[in-house]
Amino acid sequence: MAAPRAEVVIDLDNLRHNVAHLAALAPGAETMAVVKADGYGHGAVEVARAAVEAGATWLGSCSLAEALALRAAGLTVPVLAWLDPPGTDYAPGVEQGVDLAASSVRQLDAIADAATRAGRTARVHLKIDTGLSRNGCQPADWPELVERAARTPNVEVHAIWSHLAVADEVGHPATDAQAERFDDAYRAALAAGLDPRRHLANSAAVLTRPDLHFDLVRPGIAVYGLNPVPVPADLRPVMTFRSSVAMTKRVPAGEAVSYGLTWTAKTDTTLALVPAGYADGVPRALSNRAHVWLGGRRHPLVGRVCMDQVVVDCGDHEVAEGDEVVLFGAGAHGEPTAREWADTVGTIDYEIVTGMYRPRVTRSYVGARR
Ligand SMILES: *Cc1c(COP(=O)(O)O)cnc(C)c1O
Repeated sequence: MAAPRAEVVIDLDNLRHNVAHLAALAPGAETMAVVKADGYGHGAVEVARAAVEAGATWLGSCSLAEALALRAAGLTVPVLAWLDPPGTDYAPGVEQGVDLAASSVRQLDAIADAATRAGRTARVHLKIDTGLSRNGCQPADWPELVERAARTPNVEVHAIWSHLAVADEVGHPATDAQAERFDDAYRAALAAGLDPRRHLANSAAVLTRPDLHFDLVRPGIAVYGLNPVPVPADLRPVMTFRSSVAMTKRVPAGEAVSYGLTWTAKTDTTLALVPAGYADGVPRALSNRAHVWLGGRRHPLVGRVCMDQVVVDCGDHEVAEGDEVVLFGAGAHGEPTAREWADTVGTIDYEIVTGMYRPRVTRSYVGARR
C-alpha cells in the first residue's frame, strides 16, 4: 500500500469512549451527539453510527440536508435539524421523522405547512434566545410563539431549547442569566398549555454545569475528544492528521527553504519534504511556527507552508522516504495536537478539525464495528 499523502485517521474507539463518558456525566439526560458540518470534519455518518453504539440516543445536525443524509444512511434515532434559510421545504424532514427547530412564527408556520402536505405530525423544538443573540426567538415574541404552537394542528412541541454563549468560561455570570431566561421561557410554555422537554447544554455545560443538563444534552466538540474548558476531562482526541516523507535531502549550512526563503539552515542538515500544504488543511500561518511528529520525535516545520507541501528540518536524525509524519494527533506521545495549532494561529481547535473536510484529504477509520 502506498504511504498516505494527506490523510485523517478517525479513531472510532476513542469516539465511543467519549460519548459513553459524556453520557455518564449526564445520567438523568439523554445524549445528542452533534454531528453537523460532516461530524466536525470527522465524517457524520461514521461518527453517528459509533455515537449511537456508545449510547447517544439523539443526533444533532445544522441543516435539514445533513439530517436527511443521516436518515439515508440508515440512522433511525431521533435527529434534530436547527438552521435552514427561508424558503426551505421541511416536508422531506417531516416524512423522514426529522425533528425540526422553530425560532419564529414564520418557521413554525413553514413546518406546519410541510406537515399538512406530508400528511404527518411534525415534531418541533421551539428555540428561545436567552442571550446569544443568534438563532432563537426573542423573549418578547416568545408568548406568541408558544401559544401559536399549542394551537397548531400537525405540530407536536417536543421540547424548548436554547444555546449558551460563554459556557466555556467556567463561572461566567452570563450563563446563569441565560439559565434564568430559559426558566422564564419554560414557565411561559407551560402557561400556554405545552409540556415540553428542555435542552440547553453544549459540551462545556455537559462538563461543568450538571444543573443545566435538563432532559437532553448536546455535546459536539467533546464527542471528538477536544475539551473546551480548562477543567480535566477523560476525553480522547479522535482525529489524527498524517502524511509521509515524500523525499529527503541533505543540504549545506546557508541554504534557505521554501517561498520567500524565510528560513536558512544554520548547519548542514537533513530536510524532509512532506506532501501536505494549506490546500490540505495546514494553515499557512503555521509557517516556521509548528512541529511535526516524525521518527518518534518532534521536528520543526521550516520555511513557508505551500499549497501542497511543507518542509521539515530533521537535523542529523535518521529519516527515510516513506516514513510516517503526524501533523497533529492525540498528543499522548508528544505529537502536536489540533489545540496546539489553534493556539499558534489564533483560533479554536473546532476550526482546525472541521477544516480537515477537504476533497484532497483522504479519511480512514479505525475501530469500526462493521
Ligand atoms: C454546535 C452546537 C452544539 C455543540 O456545541 P459544542 O460546543 O461543540 O459542544 C450544541 N448545540 C447547538 C445548537 C450547536 O449549534
